[in-house]
Amino acid sequence: MSSEHAENAGPENTAPEGAAPEGIGVDEVSAVDEGPETDKAAAAEVGSAADVWDVVVVGAGPAGASAAYAAAVAGRRVLLLEKSELPRYKTCGGGIIGPSRDSLPPGFELPLQDRVHAVTFSLDGRFARTRRSRKMLFGLINRPEFDAQLVEHAQKAGAELRTGATVSRVEQHGPAVPDRRTVAVVLADGETVLARSVVGADGSASRIGAHVGVKLGQVDLGLEAEIPVPPSVAEDWKGRVLIDWGPMPGSYGWVFPKGDTLTVGVISARGEGAATKRYMEDFVARLGLSGFEPTISSGHLTRCRTDDSPLSRGRVLVCGDAAGLLEPWTREGISYALRSGRLAGEWAVRVAEAGDAVDARRQALNYAFAIKAGLGVEMAVGRRMLALFERRPGLLHATITGLRPAWNAFADITRGSATLGGMVRSNGMARRALELLDRRMDTSSGVGPAGRGIGQRERSAPEGGGEDAAEAGGGDAGGSAEVSAVAEAPKASEAPKAPEVPEAS
Ligand SMILES: Cc1cc2nc3c(=O)[nH]c(=O)nc-3n(C[C@H](O)[C@H](O)[C@H](O)COP(=O)(O)OP(=O)(O)OC[C@H]3O[C@@H](n4cnc5c(N)ncnc54)[C@H](O)[C@@H]3O)c2cc1C
Repeated sequence: MSSEHAENAGPENTAPEGAAPEGIGVDEVSAVDEGPETDKAAAAEVGSAADVWDVVVVGAGPAGASAAYAAAVAGRRVLLLEKSELPRYKTCGGGIIGPSRDSLPPGFELPLQDRVHAVTFSLDGRFARTRRSRKMLFGLINRPEFDAQLVEHAQKAGAELRTGATVSRVEQHGPAVPDRRTVAVVLADGETVLARSVVGADGSASRIGAHVGVKLGQVDLGLEAEIPVPPSVAEDWKGRVLIDWGPMPGSYGWVFPKGDTLTVGVISARGEGAATKRYMEDFVARLGLSGFEPTISSGHLTRCRTDDSPLSRGRVLVCGDAAGLLEPWTREGISYALRSGRLAGEWAVRVAEAGDAVDARRQALNYAFAIKAGLGVEMAVGRRMLALFERRPGLLHATITGLRPAWNAFADITRGSATLGGMVRSNGMARRALELLDRRMDTSSGVGPAGRGIGQRERSAPEGGGEDAAEAGGGDAGGSAEVSAVAEAPKASEAPKAPEVPEAS
C-alpha cells in the first residue's frame, strides 16, 4: 500500500457532537436510521478520538479526481481513496470530446496521443465512408496518464491521496459513527475513516452507488484491445478514427489510434457476451489486425442510471459511473465523470458544512437538481438516439455520412460547440427530425421511444463487485468474456479503404 501525504493537509480534530438534537436525515432516497441507543454511546467513544475529514472521495478516476479538486480548491480538507496503485489501467477508448476538455482544471495540459480530424463510418464492415474536418474533432488520450495527471492536480490543490485503499462500505449510523454529522468510511483492512461528507466515484461497480441505491436502466459490455502496430499501419490511422455500427442492436465498434498503438473495441448490450466477443474477433480480423498481439485485452461494463435514480443518500453523493452517469448512445463517460465530479465536489463541501440533516439534505438535493438539469437532459436525448440507433442503424449511417448538416452536428457535438440536448431544444429541424423518427418507431412497434431498447436492456443494480469482463462474460455466455489475440491470423494489411466525401467544416 502506498500513500502520499501533503504537508499540513491532515484532517481536523473534531469534538463529538452526538448529543446535538437533529432531525433524522430523510434524504432523496430513504431515511437514514438513527440506530439503537447503545450504538450512540459507542459512537461517542469513537468520535472523541476521531479525526474527521471534510470530504472523503472514494475512487480516483476522472470523477473522483475532479470532486477532490473541487473540494480542495474550496479550501476543505479532502482525502482521496483509491484501491489501485497509480497510474492504473482502465478499459476505455480515451476519446476526449469538447465538454471533457472544457471541464478540466485550469492549467491542465491534455496528454494527447492523437488529434482526430477524420472519421470513417461503416455499417458492420460495409459502406465505409470517411468524413474530414479541418478543425480538430476530438482528442485521444491514454487513461493511465490522463487519470494520474488529474489526481496530481487534485493533490496540488491540497487533496491527500491514499492508494491501495479499498473501501468496503460507508456507514451513516452505528457504532463507527460518532454523530449524525459524520459518515464512517470502512476500508477492506478494517480501518475506519471519518468524514463530514463522502463522494462515491468508485466506477461502474460502485459500492457507494449500492449504498445510495443507484438504479440502472441500461447495462452494456465493452471489450477492448490495445494493439501495437508497425509504423506503416500507424501512419494509415494517424488523425483518423473508425466507427463501425455493429451487428447487434445498439452495438458499435471503434479504432482509436494512439501513435504506435491502436485501441480497438466494441460495445453491446450486456447479456450477449458470446456475440459481443465474436463481433470483436470479426472486427479485428476484418481490419487486418489479427496478426498483432495485443498488449492488453480487457472488458468492462458500462451502466446508465434510470431517470429517477437517486444521486445521494444522507451525506453521501455519487458521481460519474458510480451514479450511472453516462451518455446512453455513445457510452461516452469521461465528460460525464468530469462534470458530475466537479459538481459533487462543490456540493459535498456544502453538505460537509451542513449543521443538521435537513440542511445536508437540502444541499444534496441541490446537487441532484444540478445534475438532472444538465446531464439528465443530455441523457434523455441520448436514450432517444440509442432507441433510434437500435432500430435503424442503416438510417443513422446514411444520415451521418450522406447529409452535411448531420455530419456538421456530429462535428459540433464532439468539438463541444453544441450538445445533442441543446440542438434538439433550439434547432427546430433537429427536433422535428427526431420527433418524426420517434413516431415512425412508435408506429412500427407500438412501443414508445423512451421504453424501446432500454426496456430490453434493463438489468438489476450491482451490489458491489463484478466490474470486469470475467464477471460479465460469466453472466452472459457462461464463459469469460476476455478476448485473446488470435496468434495464427494473417498479417495485418490495410484498414478498410473508404470513399472520401468533401471536407465538411
Ligand atoms: C470499453 C469502454 C470504452 C470507453 N471509451 C470511452 C471513451 O472513448 N470516451 C469516454 O468519454 N468514455 C469512454 N468510456 C466510459 C469511461 O471509461 C467511463 O465513463 C469513465 O471512466 C468514468 O469515470 P469514473 O471516474 O466515474 O470511473 P472510473 O474511471 O472507473 O474510476 C473509478 C475508480 O475507482 C476505483 N475504485 C473502485 N472501487 C473502489 C473501492 N471500493 N475503493 C477505492 N477505490 C475504488 C477504481 O480503481 C477507479 O480508479 C468507455 C468505457 C468502456 C467500458
